[in-house]
Amino acid sequence: MARKIIGITCATAPRQGLESARQTLNRPYAWAVEQAGGVPLFIPATSYTENANAYLSVLDGLLLSGGVDVSPSQYGEEDDPELGEVDPDRDSIELPLTRLALEQDMPLFAICRGVQILNIALCGTLYQDLPSQRGSWIQHQQRLAAIPRHCVTHTIHIEPDTRLHQIVGSTRMATNSFHHQALKQIGAGLCVTAHARDGIIEAVESPKHRYVLGVQFHPEETAAVDEKSRLLFEDFVRAVG
Ligand code: MN
Repeated sequence: MARKIIGITCATAPRQGLESARQTLNRPYAWAVEQAGGVPLFIPATSYTENANAYLSVLDGLLLSGGVDVSPSQYGEEDDPELGEVDPDRDSIELPLTRLALEQDMPLFAICRGVQILNIALCGTLYQDLPSQRGSWIQHQQRLAAIPRHCVTHTIHIEPDTRLHQIVGSTRMATNSFHHQALKQIGAGLCVTAHARDGIIEAVESPKHRYVLGVQFHPEETAAVDEKSRLLFEDFVRAVG
C-alpha cells in the first residue's frame, strides 16, 4: 500500500517567553488522520523557513491546522486593535510550506487558521476581527458561549458541483465554529464553495490543483460523532499518495 504521510502544522504555546515555549497540536487532528488511514507527522512552528522544502520532501500531503490569528503584516495590513494573539514562528514556516505545496501540487487540506493561511499564500486578505468589521447574528466563536468543540452551532450552504458537495453529498452541513477572523478578498485561483447564512465564507477549493480544500470550521473535532466530517478526512487521505 502506498505510504500516506500527512504533515500537520503545530502551534507555539505558551506564546509568552520563547525559552518556555512548546510545540502543540490538539489531539483530534492526529486521530482524524489516523482513522482515515493516514500517518500523521507533526511539523514544528519555526522561523527556519529554509527547511520548508525538506519537510515537504518526506510528506505525501499537508494539513494546515487551526490556531491563533495570522499577522496582518503577511497580507500588507496594519494590526487592527481587535486583532487576537499571533504566532510569528508559525506564520514564518506555514506560508512557504503552503506556497511550495501548491507549486508541487501536493494534496492540501486547510482547517480554520489553515484556510486563512492558504488564502494569504495566494495573495488574499482576512477580516481581522469579524464582530467589529462584519457583524453578524451568527456566533462564529462558540467558545464565547462555552459550547463544546464537538457540538455543531451553525449550518453552511455548499455550492453544487464542487468537491465539497461531492464529499458530503449534500448542499447543507451543520458545523462547529471557532473563528473570530474570516476570508475577505479571495486568493488567486480559489473558488468559494460554502457560505454561512450571513455570507461569511466557510470553504474554498482550487480547481486547478490536484487537491486543495479549505474549511473555516473544525471537522477534526466532530469526526468522532459526524459522518460528513469523517468523510472530509477520508477523501483527503484517499487523494494522497
Ligand atoms: Mn463559522
